[in-house]
Amino acid sequence: MKKLVAALLVLVLLFVVAAEFRHRLLFGLQDGSPPPLGEITEEGPGVTWADDYYTVEQIAPRTYAIGEPRYHQQNFNYLIVGDREAILFDAGSGLRNAAAIAAGLTDRPITFVPSHFHYDHVGNGINFARIAIIDLPHLRERAPDNALRLQWGEHLGSSEGYAPSEFRVDQWLAPGSDVDLGGRKLRVLFTPGHTWDSVSLYDAQANVLFTGDFIYPGYLYAFLPTSRLGDYIQGADQVLAVTNAETRLYGAHRVAPPGAPVQTRQHVLTLKQTLEALRAGDVDGEGFYPRSYAAGDMVLLVEPWPFQDWGETYPAGLPGS
Ligand SMILES: [Zn+2]
Repeated sequence: MKKLVAALLVLVLLFVVAAEFRHRLLFGLQDGSPPPLGEITEEGPGVTWADDYYTVEQIAPRTYAIGEPRYHQQNFNYLIVGDREAILFDAGSGLRNAAAIAAGLTDRPITFVPSHFHYDHVGNGINFARIAIIDLPHLRERAPDNALRLQWGEHLGSSEGYAPSEFRVDQWLAPGSDVDLGGRKLRVLFTPGHTWDSVSLYDAQANVLFTGDFIYPGYLYAFLPTSRLGDYIQGADQVLAVTNAETRLYGAHRVAPPGAPVQTRQHVLTLKQTLEALRAGDVDGEGFYPRSYAAGDMVLLVEPWPFQDWGETYPAGLPGS
């Protein structure tokens, strides 16, 4: 009897440890280097190859999608140019230098803004002239000297051999504020869910929203260490509040060629409805970890029930909303 109790205790302990370190177990199983590059893709008219790795596509006046079709995650970064300065929104993993491609497209000084801190967006190792990040209380308190040391779970780069680095902050972007590039303004939107620090940029004049990993066609990752399903619903409300039926939403990944991934407000409504149905227990998913739920041309990936976090990082309301 004592042996049985001891064995049960060991089993429970193993389960608790596996649950606690589930993200480490999941990402630690990968081999620590990026997979080989894919073939050169057929991208159609309007898209040019900047070298044998990047594509450049003008998606609006003074607005460029800088794609990485050969990288396995098919990242898209965006250069947004004003009269006085420009923003590079995301820079891929740093496998190549997206900042150099951006500098070849404008002579305005460029500020790098990461949509969030996952390794495939922060351009690991690229020497940016200027960096701006979203101003959130939970980030500010960790960066009293304007240097933010990224945590493993915010960065996740170990799966492709990147260590989380210290992030220098030249400028804090208040949620809800406008960044003035000169003759062009971008609204800073706090859109958490995929991560607790995700930012989207809205150009009201061009009616274009840059969404990072908040939404794009394909698999949406809502099961990562700083993902939170309650945040995702709040983030969707932020986007729904500013967009209209004609708004073009440009995301940070795509499924297949050609060109940059573009969606509409309707996709955000579908995402929100899927989240609400999931919370109510009204939809069926597939798989165990992560579980997947179809949402139009997207698939929402979430943790199984006991680990689902419907809480909110800012339960009293999102900063800037
Ligand atoms: Zn991400």
